[in-house]
Amino acid sequence: MSSKPEHLLKTYFGYDAFRPGQKQVIETVIDRQNTLAVMPTGGGKSICYQIPGLMLDGTAIIISPLISLMKDQVDALKALGISATYLNSSLSPGEQNQRLNDIAEGAYSFVYVAPERFDSGRFVDTISRMNISLVAFDEAHCISQWGHDFRPSYRSVVPRLKAIPNIPVYMALTATATEEVMDDIRALLDITPEHMVNTGFERSNLNFHIVKGKNKARYIQDFLGRHKGESGIIYTATRKQADTLYEQLSRRDLAVKKYHAGLSEDERREAQAAFVYDEAAIMIATNAFGMGIDKSNVRFVIHYAMPMNIESYYQEAGRAGRDGEASDCILLFSPQDIQLQKFLIEQSLADEGAKQQEYRKLQAMINYCHTNSCLTTYILQYFGDQPAQSMCGRCSNCIDDQEKVDITEEAQMILSCVKRMGERFGASLTAKVLKGSRDKRVSSFGLDRLSTFGLLSAYTEKDVSERIQFLVAENILGTEEGKFPTLKLNQNSVDVLKGKRTVMMKAAPLPASAGEEDYHAELFEEMRKLRKTMADEQGVPPYVLFSDATLKEFARYLPETEQEILAIKGVGEKRYAQYGETFLEVILRWIEAHPEAAKNKKVRIDQGPVVREVKKAEKDERPSHMISYNMFQSGTSIKDIATRRDMTPQTIEEHIFKAAKEGYPVAWAIFFDEEQETEVLKARSEIEEPRLRELKEVLPEGYSYPCIKAVLVKNGFM
Ligand code: ADP
Ligand code: MG
Ligand code: ZN
Repeated sequence: MSSKPEHLLKTYFGYDAFRPGQKQVIETVIDRQNTLAVMPTGGGKSICYQIPGLMLDGTAIIISPLISLMKDQVDALKALGISATYLNSSLSPGEQNQRLNDIAEGAYSFVYVAPERFDSGRFVDTISRMNISLVAFDEAHCISQWGHDFRPSYRSVVPRLKAIPNIPVYMALTATATEEVMDDIRALLDITPEHMVNTGFERSNLNFHIVKGKNKARYIQDFLGRHKGESGIIYTATRKQADTLYEQLSRRDLAVKKYHAGLSEDERREAQAAFVYDEAAIMIATNAFGMGIDKSNVRFVIHYAMPMNIESYYQEAGRAGRDGEASDCILLFSPQDIQLQKFLIEQSLADEGAKQQEYRKLQAMINYCHTNSCLTTYILQYFGDQPAQSMCGRCSNCIDDQEKVDITEEAQMILSCVKRMGERFGASLTAKVLKGSRDKRVSSFGLDRLSTFGLLSAYTEKDVSERIQFLVAENILGTEEGKFPTLKLNQNSVDVLKGKRTVMMKAAPLPASAGEEDYHAELFEEMRKLRKTMADEQGVPPYVLFSDATLKEFARYLPETEQEILAIKGVGEKRYAQYGETFLEVILRWIEAHPEAAKNKKVRIDQGPVVREVKKAEKDERPSHMISYNMFQSGTSIKDIATRRDMTPQTIEEHIFKAAKEGYPVAWAIFFDEEQETEVLKARSEIEEPRLRELKEVLPEGYSYPCIKAVLVKNGFM
């Protein structure tokens, strides 16, 4: 055949123009160059091998990992008048024999086979004597051991094929490949970089959403109520979840089907057909469902629980909107999902190295659920794509207008707690320590004796965890890989601890179950409104005045005097002078109207650990430098201590150094890192009796006086 690609596209497939990347792939294949095509799901990869298959002489062998997909593909080609068949274990031995004979005679332009077929000597023998046009690996990421869906049988096909001399060209096609996987595929199939066509992964019609802290079943019911008649898939993490959700939804008279590996093949086939032919709009399934489902009008894909990694997530979510129409991809996250996925990894038969790899990918998935940045961008960057713009403007993080609040202080407390715990523990134990939990593990490690114990007891443990996960997601806190990733400080942590960087977060709306709130919600609302008005007047964002956390503390502890309000976390002298009185007035007015509430407050103040600490500092008999030191040890930044105590940061630094010289432990990482320490010591050893100024002059920029001084104090030179 010598028709042009455009002509075949029109006559066989009825399309006027190629999609991005298609033409280029087709041309390199026709040129007999091994080719890797990376295109998003629904990008039109099939046509990339079908058109060359029609143009080149001989039979095209398409290797595909899923049997269920083959029949549909073959039927589709036959419907276009193209001779095609498949060979797999669903056929009887007699049928297999007959087909193989027909194939040998060159009766088909396209033959779909599963990788296992190459275990058969007869099959390999047959194709080695045939006229082959090309060999294509569909879903080629399965070939790579770095992929999320590695199939050893897929990889072992490669040496078998390479032993056959008559294969003119290889193709690999995939929608999900990280840099590592692409390199691996290219090395295996001898594909040079210039013969890789990567159109990027962006699917601009998909809207990604993360939903947290909701009752999942109820959320789904509401969602389906609002999307009546639309077709969608709900993925669950386990068969059991699928069964339960199926029961719940079918009781509500919704047209649902279910699909998982625990069902018989007939049941599965029936469910799939009902879904594909629009008899049942909604499919509830495990990840066993979907590969090869080319249904184009899937309007939403909901994940009932967080999947194991971004690759699976993007592939499954990507089954929405193949037709290019706007579609929703919603992930319902709850913290238990993490435990479940760890359990699944632990249960798998993979070796230790592979498990570590899975844990690393799981962490990226967890971070996706906690980031405040654009979700689309997050996914694209994960796959090594550089998105055109940093915000997609359509994901839940981009459209969420929830105001970000300043959580720098909480972040500093968390970071200093991690430091004090020796960077040896994970997020959940750290949350317990900050919450002041009586959990046995806390006391058995002696963590209840740390100065940071109970520092965030005003929050629920869940809220503390949420903030820790957020810091990890934003890379303000590092993690060591593994099943129980230990938390580690990194450069960003140090910047936050030093007060060089603020942390803003869209604080998750606290579920308004009245019992859980331990502050007066109406007063809080009243103060929020006041804050908004004042902020607008000054043309600044509201959180600049006081953070939500601080307003809640007001509404919790009901301060009545300047003294009391200054004892609240987040209120320094400066801010008090600017805004404090106005807020105090509102509180006093509110107390007048609610005398009952005010009576209870005394108890509360005594229990508030943060308030207690600062109060102690005020009428404290301890030496001044120890007051600063203790505040520093409980995670307050030097800048904030200075503001609160109305002193200069230099004085506070002196206080801390003094305490250090007296033998108190200091978190030195806040002042310098290892490299800086080495450099300062080196510089010192090279100058005779150096003064600070001389050291500063010989050291590179960025070595501040406090940094240099801290190194000298730590090492006993001052
Ligand atoms: P995938 O890349 O996920 O394997 P498919 O090959 O299944 O995607 O194609 C997805 C859909 O896009 C199919 O319905 C296909 O017919 C359609 N398609 C492919 N190429 C084009 C094109 N050039 N113009 C319009 N539709 C196309
Ligand atoms: Mg495909
Ligand atoms: Zn976005």
